[in-house]
Amino acid sequence: MNTDRSSGNSNYLKHEQGYRDKALKLYPWICGRCAREFVYSNLRELTVHHRDHNHDNNPADGSNWELLCLYCHDHEHTKFHEYILYGSTKEKTIEAATHNPFAQLKDLMAKKKD
Ligand SMILES: [Zn+2]
Ligand SMILES: [Zn+2]
Repeated sequence: MNTDRSSGNSNYLKHEQGYRDKALKLYPWICGRCAREFVYSNLRELTVHHRDHNHDNNPADGSNWELLCLYCHDHEHTKFHEYILYGSTKEKTIEAATHNPFAQLKDLMAKKKD
């Protein structure tokens, strides 16, 4: 039935979806920091980190991407004080797991921006 797969569909996916898909095809589903392995059912916890923190820099060879689990990804951005680039941290419960000094700072800053 569906034999027209090569009919030049120029319907581009959203930016983020695009590079995430590519990164997940390029790299094994393993966190680059803690080596946690992922399967399809928890793949949403595996995120694409941009090594230079520039989300617009998406070379096709994946050289600017790194697969990180939510926890390590958050840590990576906290380290650089650039966690703002990575907004979807709400449903995490890392406070208990990672007692880093920046956790409170992050809280404070979140409260301030109203
Ligand atoms: Zn990790
Ligand atoms: Zn990142």
